[in-house]
Amino acid sequence: KPMEGRISDIGPRHFGEYLPPVIKDNFGKWDYHEIIEPGVLLHVGLSGDKTYTVRAATARLMTVTMIREICDIADKFCGGFVRFTTRNNLEFQVETEEAAKELKAFLNEQKFAAGSMKFPVGGTGAGVTNIVHTQGWVHCHTPATDASGTVKATMDVVFDDFTDMKLPAPVRISMACCLNMCGAVHCSDIAILGIHRKPPIIDHEYLDNLCEIPLAVAACPTGAVRPSKVEIDGKTYKTVALKEERCMFCGNCYTMCPSLPLSDGEGDGIAIMVGGKISNRITKPAFSKVVVPFVPNEPPRWPTMTKVIKKILDTYAAEANKYERLGDWANRIGWERFFEKCDLPFSEHLIDDFRDPAYYTWRQTTQFKW
Ligand code: SF4
Ligand code: SF4
Repeated sequence: KPMEGRISDIGPRHFGEYLPPVIKDNFGKWDYHEIIEPGVLLHVGLSGDKTYTVRAATARLMTVTMIREICDIADKFCGGFVRFTTRNNLEFQVETEEAAKELKAFLNEQKFAAGSMKFPVGGTGAGVTNIVHTQGWVHCHTPATDASGTVKATMDVVFDDFTDMKLPAPVRISMACCLNMCGAVHCSDIAILGIHRKPPIIDHEYLDNLCEIPLAVAACPTGAVRPSKVEIDGKTYKTVALKEERCMFCGNCYTMCPSLPLSDGEGDGIAIMVGGKISNRITKPAFSKVVVPFVPNEPPRWPTMTKVIKKILDTYAAEANKYERLGDWANRIGWERFFEKCDLPFSEHLIDDFRDPAYYTWRQTTQFKW
C-alpha cells in the first residue's frame, strides 16, 4: 500500500506507483540475486518469482528525444517500465533469460549517427560502472572543469572494463566539477575533481547592485570576505574585500554574489583522487585520497587526465588480488609503492595541512594553497 500514510499531495508521486508488478509483489521479500553475465542480473524472490535486469550506460545529460527513445524501448520490451540507478545506468526488467539476451543484443546495436554506441550494456560486478558526474560547464555556476567532456573522454579509455567483469573488484569512477562535490567523489575508487586555484575576482563597480553584501560575507566558510569600500575614478563603491590567504577557492561567495566570479583559465583544472569506497565488504568504507593535485583542463579529450586514470586502472587490474578494491590494494602494498607503480610523482600538495602531528596524513581534500 504505497500511498498509505501520505499526508499531502505535494511533491513527486509515490515511487510505489511506478514499480513493475514483480517488484511490487516481492517488495522486501527477495531471496538472492546474481550477475549471470556482464550487464544482466537475476533477482529471485522468496516466492520463487524471477526477474532479469539488463543494465545499460547512458549519458548523464540527455535530450528529450533520447528519453523518448528509452521510453519506446521500455514499451517494446518491458511493459513500459524502466528505471535509472543512482549511477545513471538504465535498467530494463524482463521475465526470462532469453528475453534478457534479446534485449541486451538490441541495446548493443543502437548507435548514434556517428557510429558510437547509445546504450552499451554493462556496468555490473568486477568492472567499471557508469561514471556519475555533475553539471560542468553546461549548467552550473562554479565548475572548475567540464563534467560531460571529462567523463566521455574517461569512459572511452576504460570502456572494455565497463562491458566486461575482469577487474579484481568493482571500480566506481565519479566526477565532480568543483569541490562542492555533487558527484560523490569523496568515496570513489577513482575520482575526477574540478579544482579552482585562484580566489574570486571582485567586480567592485557592479557588486553593490547585484549582491546582498551581508550574504556574501556570511557565505564564506573561512571568513575571508568582509564589507569594504573602494574608490574608482572618483566614485565610491560599496563592495567587499578578500583576505586572499584565507580563501580555499570554494566558490560559496560566488553562489551568493555573481560579482565574485572565480573561474580562471590558468587556475582551474582537475585533481585525481583514489581509494574511496562506500561498501563495507571485506574492509570498512574509506574516503578517497588525492594522488594527483592538478591536471590542466585540456578539452575536448583531456589526454593527461585519461592517461593517468588508465595507468592507475591497468596497474590495479594487473597487480591486485581478487576481490581487493583499489584502495585496499594500495593500502596493502603501501601508498609509496602505489605512486611508484602508477608513475605518479609525489608532492607536498598530497600531504594534509601541517597544523598538528595528528594531521600529518594523506590529503583527503583539495583545499590547499598553490
Ligand atoms: Fe556545480 Fe560544483 Fe556541483 Fe559541479 S560539483 S555541479 S560546479 S556545485
Ligand atoms: Fe570564501 Fe570560498 Fe569565496 Fe574564497 S571562494 S572567499 S573561501 S567563499
